Formats: sequence, C-alpha cells, structure tokens
Amino acid sequence: MNKIRKGDTVRVVAGNDKGKEGQVLRVLREENRVIVKGVQMITRHLRPSAKHREGGIVQQEGTIHLSNVLLVCPECDRPTRVGFQRAETGEKLRRCKQCGKTFD
Ligand SMILES: [Zn+2]
Repeated sequence: MNKIRKGDTVRVVAGNDKGKEGQVLRVLREENRVIVKGVQMITRHLRPSAKHREGGIVQQEGTIHLSNVLLVCPECDRPTRVGFQRAETGEKLRRCKQCGKTFD
C-alpha cells in the first residue's frame, strides 16, 4: 500500500524544485522515488538513432525521493503527510493528516 501513487498530485518540499507541484507519472517502489511531471528536469544528449535521426538534446523528468514530496490532499488541497485508516467495509484508505478526511 503506497502513500503516493501514480496520478496523485504532489508538492516538492526540498531541492531545486521546492514549491513546485505536479502529477506523479511513475512510482519506483523499490527505490522509494517518484517521477513527477515537470519536476527535476534533466537534460539528456541523444545519439542519432533510427527514431531521432539528428540526435540532440531532450529534457525529461528525473526521479525524486519520496521524502522530498508531500501529497496534495484531494479533499482540502493542502500538502500533507498521509496516514491510513480502515473503512467500515474493511477497505484500507489513505487519510489526510491536515483535514482528517479519507480517500482512496
Ligand atoms: Zn486534506
């Protein structure tokens, strides 16, 4: 059960991109890192290939450690740490530590 999941909006709280918000594109579970849209952009130099005939430079998102982002709560829109709470149905839900509301 991950606190941060693909599709979540997160706020960066440390590093060069501190303050930025973006959507989680990928979660690298083993490494405890995420890739967030528009965050931690890195420049890659491509060699010419069949796909990129000219080669060249592309910008793409690098990974950022989970400890450097906070989930933006879908209920109260604030960056928050996430807890867990079991619903009456037995389902395990995420819980916002700011507003106390639960969500999937
Ligand atoms: Zn909240």
